[in-house]
Amino acid sequence: MKLTGLLEQNQLHLSFEVFPPKTSTLFEDVKQATEQIAALRPSYISVTYGAGGGTSEYTLKIAENLLKTIHVPTLAHLTCVSSTPQTIRERIRAMQNAGIENVLALRGDLTPELASADRNRLDYRYAVDLIRELKSSGADFCIGGACYPEKHPESENTVEDIRHLKEKVDAGCEFLVTQMFFDNNLLYRYLYRIREAGIHVPVIPGIMPITNANQVDRAIRLSGSFMPTRFRSLVDRFGSSPAAMKQAGIIYATDQIIDLYANGVRNVHVYTMNKPDVAAAIMSHLSDILKEGSAL
Ligand code: FAD
Repeated sequence: MKLTGLLEQNQLHLSFEVFPPKTSTLFEDVKQATEQIAALRPSYISVTYGAGGGTSEYTLKIAENLLKTIHVPTLAHLTCVSSTPQTIRERIRAMQNAGIENVLALRGDLTPELASADRNRLDYRYAVDLIRELKSSGADFCIGGACYPEKHPESENTVEDIRHLKEKVDAGCEFLVTQMFFDNNLLYRYLYRIREAGIHVPVIPGIMPITNANQVDRAIRLSGSFMPTRFRSLVDRFGSSPAAMKQAGIIYATDQIIDLYANGVRNVHVYTMNKPDVAAAIMSHLSDILKEGSAL
């Protein structure tokens, strides 16, 4: 099922993200965790692509398994910055053969080598180059892209970032998934700005439940997200107690989701990080809201 069909429906949706294993020895464990998450019947599941493409083969295996065994729509991530056109064309063929209909087209993070290299020599400098390649391949994918309510860390300013986002949409990106954020007001302001800039495709906010204190610094470092005082207090107070921190993190994320739904957002994506218990807790907290939302 193409995600655009799903995103246009007049009802509330909740989707989850999983990531592939780094080695073959972990494959069965990860496969099992993703199947448990899929069994909760989210609207779709996205499967990330290992940085630099190292685990690309597993992205496809996990996505294909969820699609064909559990029958949950899937979104396969694909990055391009460290790839050659030949590799990308092989990936496109492999995705088609696996029955993948939805692709999140990403640039990928720059490794230190790539960051210091002459970027003009790269085959794919930006996600928009991958979107153009996907479109010209003749494959009938529904293509999504990433966006950043607090701007991408490499961008000089939000205006520039949104200008480049518009290029992705104009190139054929049909929906956008946001970077994590911990203050919904940032999302609402961002939505206003991108709509003003002429970007009208569906935007799916990405919510990350922080379930242990160690995750906090890493998440903030990678995403550059603003940490509201309310959330920082919660980490300071419960961070040293794993069970309490987990509960507080899940409830904080659930609260963000409820606020988004209450303010007119219909689709929310949760970075569930291969944790079936976290996905199940969020789904359970939202069960009546999602039921009610299916009759909107
Ligand atoms: P782009 O859209 O290319 O943007 C990157 C930067 O370049 C931005 O600052 C942008 O403003 C700028 N830019 C874009 N076009 C131009 C232009 N023409 N001229 C000048 N500047 C330009 N990484 C993974 O490795 N695997 C994953 O599975 C993965 N999944 C992700 C899912 C989501 C929802 C998000 C938000 C991120 C994900 N990432 C993933 C991380 C992502 O690869 C990084 O954030 C990466 O640094 C940027 O990718 P992008 O597709 O947003 O890049």
